[in-house]
Amino acid sequence: MIEFAIAFVLFYCVHMLGITIGYHRLLSHRSFKCSKGLEYFFVAAGYLAMEGSPVTWAVVHRAHHRQPDLANDPHGPSRGWFHQYAGWMLDFRYSESVSPAALAPDLLRDPVYRFFDQNQHLYRAYFLCFVTCVLTRLLLFVATDVWILLASVLAGFAAQQMPLVLNVVSHMPRLGYRTFATEDSSSNVPWLAILTMGEGWHNNHHAFPGSARSGISAREFDMSWLVLCFLKRMKLIHSINMPSPQHSPNHSTQSLALMSHPEKAG
Ligand SMILES: [Zn+2]
Ligand SMILES: [Zn+2]
Repeated sequence: MIEFAIAFVLFYCVHMLGITIGYHRLLSHRSFKCSKGLEYFFVAAGYLAMEGSPVTWAVVHRAHHRQPDLANDPHGPSRGWFHQYAGWMLDFRYSESVSPAALAPDLLRDPVYRFFDQNQHLYRAYFLCFVTCVLTRLLLFVATDVWILLASVLAGFAAQQMPLVLNVVSHMPRLGYRTFATEDSSSNVPWLAILTMGEGWHNNHHAFPGSARSGISAREFDMSWLVLCFLKRMKLIHSINMPSPQHSPNHSTQSLALMSHPEKAG
């Protein structure tokens, strides 16, 4: 049982960092730079948590930031909480306002991401991801035992759920607090920030989506940011964006004033 618990925590951390650092802060926002090898490592860790095509993930997420909470937000609240949580994935198509060619031309230039994107056939791309996840777990089972397999499957599922839960919870202001006067309903939710390794500081993130750091004040623990600091110290990443006016779409005086003194906000 101890073996299972340790394996679960390790698998969860790897998959979660793959989603936060790989899919989100690197691919979707280009908030730092690194080698292709390290980029593929993090993206693979997210992919094996059933995150699907990296292109689709980045396209949908960039569309979310373009018009958060409005009708063209792919997982906005206009069609109810289930659509906001996972229903949007069941459409298996992009909405008319979302164009992969326009939103993620950088990712479509990469042959590896193009292969996993399956020419924008969302069914095929998700099926390829599912098959890859199953085959990987079978290899793991052959190399280890049933408890490690179970830990891997459950940790992958838990990590896969986190961005979906975040889409709902961190856009409900009553469940957290808002530091910045963004034009959306994004909220900082401490317990979710722990589970998602920093992504729960979602109001901060909407104020500064181009920043590699989401936990801004001293009490906002951001595990992914600590990992990025470690990688920077190891000289594995560089050109790291920090919260600053040029990484914010909200160039309001209030946002910038709060940026200087985030601890004063309520
Ligand atoms: Zn959001
Ligand atoms: Zn984002």
